[in-house]
Amino acid sequence: ETQRQTPHVVFLPSVGMGHLIPFLEFAKHLVRFHDFHVTCIIPTIGTPPAVVRAALQGLPPAITHIFLPPISFDDLAANTSTAGRSALAVILSLPSLRDVLNSLIVGNTRFVAFLADPFAIDAFDVAREFNLSPYLFFASNAMSLSFCFHLPKLDEMVSCEFRDLTEPIKIPGCIPVHGRDLLDPVQNRSSETYKWFLSITKRLGEAKGIVVNTFMDMEAGVLKALLQKEETGKPSIYPVGPLTRANSSDSDTGSTQCLAWLDHQPIGSVLFVSFGSGGTLSHAQLNELALGLEMSEQRFLLVVRSPNDESANAAYFDVESENNPYDFLPKGFLERTKGRGLVVPSWAPQALVLSHSSTGGFLTHCGWNSTLESVVNGVPLIAWPLYAEQKMNAVMLTEDIHVALRPKANENGLVVREEIAEVVKKLMQGEEGKKIRKRMKGLKEGAANVLQENGSSRKALSKLTLDWETQICN
Ligand code: UDP
Repeated sequence: ETQRQTPHVVFLPSVGMGHLIPFLEFAKHLVRFHDFHVTCIIPTIGTPPAVVRAALQGLPPAITHIFLPPISFDDLAANTSTAGRSALAVILSLPSLRDVLNSLIVGNTRFVAFLADPFAIDAFDVAREFNLSPYLFFASNAMSLSFCFHLPKLDEMVSCEFRDLTEPIKIPGCIPVHGRDLLDPVQNRSSETYKWFLSITKRLGEAKGIVVNTFMDMEAGVLKALLQKEETGKPSIYPVGPLTRANSSDSDTGSTQCLAWLDHQPIGSVLFVSFGSGGTLSHAQLNELALGLEMSEQRFLLVVRSPNDESANAAYFDVESENNPYDFLPKGFLERTKGRGLVVPSWAPQALVLSHSSTGGFLTHCGWNSTLESVVNGVPLIAWPLYAEQKMNAVMLTEDIHVALRPKANENGLVVREEIAEVVKKLMQGEEGKKIRKRMKGLKEGAANVLQENGSSRKALSKLTLDWETQICN
């Protein structure tokens, strides 16, 4: 009898750090706990940014990666949405994906599955050409997944824009959400992006299973609703989270500076302020944020990017600010807050900052990775959603599980300095902040437990690997 070969899985993330990071963390779990091999095939737009290359360094040898030839968007209309660009990058990469799979398949490697990002679902057709079972990796939460399953029905039932509905929308298993807080791609139903997104949600059922980066304690209601659905012929759902970067190995000078500064601050005293890998504020909003932080008299670590008045995720595909971001801060701000505040440009070693004992709060854009990184460290949140599904996440965090405060915008959509200062003080010093902190500590414990040997997320992972192992015997 021939020796049993190590099972091998092909991963296909979509473009962007928020999608790549949890894929890689999931790969690490597969390798560590189940001795699998992973080949990560990565579509790219232009040259991969330094942070992407850094994220791929120091991985276990059982995880390999291949960059697909970069797609050029020079001819694309400037107003093409981020989601649209992500989708197009995958579609234009399908021929090279086929080439790569061809070259991988020639050996006697034992491929058991193909795990793609939903934005890369078009690649399922290619996977099937190679007899690879199609699975999805959902880098966001169960709430968004439940919404995606629900969208085709909602699309038939509702004729106006969702944001114009007076009643909040009931997503199965979730707290009701107002239409304006639903994810970006469904905010303009006559757009190409909406049609594309709807078509993805209609294809979810093609997946044999969906891996989702969440865990029971955080989303019990919606996970139960989703798991019940399994019986009716829907894909199996595997909640394997939280998958977060434990010790990111960013070691550039910016990182060292952040950590050295944190070392000198009192325990739990610093508010970390960051808008993910791509978030940008308008110039007016950046001004209010800086002045609000100053007014709060709290310690802060602010990651600042050059503002952008048109787009909330101007830095999504390239995190380095084009201009010197310091130029956009209020006059005298850096001098006045010196010692109490540290400002770093473009990028901070977030996972390390959140695990630092001096960090006591996180003002976040509510990207799902950022949220989970805060949860595993028990750091309470200020929810400042910008794009993608972040407003839904903010609703869940503030109104459902109560681990965040959400500042209010004025009638012009601006969150003014007084409001910012008040919310920051409330979180860092107030009674409500204490309660939120306590709840977050509880979630942190839950997150640690589900990842223990008999925890629900480890069990879900075992079930998945068993399904993969056995299906190739059939
Ligand atoms: N990140 C980081 N430093 C930064 C900004 C972001 O390390 O200055 C990391 C962060 O830790 C997280 C990811 O980039 O792992 C962002 O993912 P998320 O889902 O929060 O948001 P996205 O960037 O996709 O909107």
